[in-house]
Amino acid sequence: MKAVQLSATWDPRPGYTPRPEEVQRGKATMASLVWRHPRFSWEDVADPTPGPDEVLLRTVACGVCGSDTHCYETDADGYVLFSGPVKTPVICGHEYTAEVLEVGSAVQKLRPGDLVAGEGMLSCGVCEACRVGNPNQCSRLEMLGFSAPGAFAERMVAKERFLWSLNPLAERLGDRQRACELGALIEPIACSYNGMFVSAGGFRPGAHIAIFGCGPIGLGAIALARCAGAATIAAFDVSPQRRAVAVAMGADTVDDPTKIPAEERIRELSGGWGADMLVEAAGAALQTMPAIERAFAPGGKMVYLGRTGLRAPVLLDVLVSAAASISGARGHSGGGCFPRILRLLERGRLEVAPMITRRMHFEETLDALRISCDRSDAKIMITYDS
Ligand SMILES: [Zn+2]
Ligand SMILES: [Zn+2]
Repeated sequence: MKAVQLSATWDPRPGYTPRPEEVQRGKATMASLVWRHPRFSWEDVADPTPGPDEVLLRTVACGVCGSDTHCYETDADGYVLFSGPVKTPVICGHEYTAEVLEVGSAVQKLRPGDLVAGEGMLSCGVCEACRVGNPNQCSRLEMLGFSAPGAFAERMVAKERFLWSLNPLAERLGDRQRACELGALIEPIACSYNGMFVSAGGFRPGAHIAIFGCGPIGLGAIALARCAGAATIAAFDVSPQRRAVAVAMGADTVDDPTKIPAEERIRELSGGWGADMLVEAAGAALQTMPAIERAFAPGGKMVYLGRTGLRAPVLLDVLVSAAASISGARGHSGGGCFPRILRLLERGRLEVAPMITRRMHFEETLDALRISCDRSDAKIMITYDS
């Protein structure tokens, strides 16, 4: 079968010595410290066979993620920008939906013909982090499409415990393809859900919300904030195309933070109160922290979801004077993220369709990765032959 594969050169950065287990497994815990000169190519690979607790899948839709873009792009020294775990060569793609073709002997609920959305955080289920309810912090985490074979392939296998049925959504929509395209958005939206409602503990209806960065994570945060009863949503992004999508997703105001100071807009919109929750989904903490510090409402919460390897100065005194807090999160597993977003989609209570700004066929995946570097699209959706 055809698959899009990422390969790169193992060349640890000067000053970084990989740990023995990284060397032994050929897997970097932080890709940007080790993998250099990435290459994406078409490969002919053998069809995978499912183990007893796995299913064989035919991929139907898969989103191009900012993390894929971060593996495509490099810094001035040729290192990938992605800071998660990577083992190459690897079939990439992880925001996927698929049709079940075959089930292993120990699979309990799924049957051939079922449509599923899959989680990409492949937690072990055995380590302490997994067993206390933090699967995204699994000490033996594998990431689909980065350290384990992913979804930019015609077929793939996945364990039943990482899959959620899309059949009810397909029935409600009366359209299996559309259910799969919306279903492929669950993974990025679940990252926002995990940060806002699991890690930071959520907000009360009537809260003022500010979202920095209107890529898929920020857009997911806007849709969730609307759905959860935000009084106002102020969003910020430098890209005009993404600002337009943020309006369609339900933001009350969307500004270019280089033109209008974010803290001023937030104060204005909230009648001087400030933001009860601030979501940093820009990965630009150096630029966003000064505004965020000045925009906390009393008891306000900041959720950091963007990624950057750079340190950003923070005036911690505002956490004291505003009784504010900062929390971080990564991933989309556990916490009820996938099933609760599915419920909202099934009942038509979460509007996410405007996030898909471009559809491309599987054969165009390399072009899609290149185009994603422009950051003008919100989500490029790859679709496959049925
Ligand atoms: Zn992703
Ligand atoms: Zn684990």
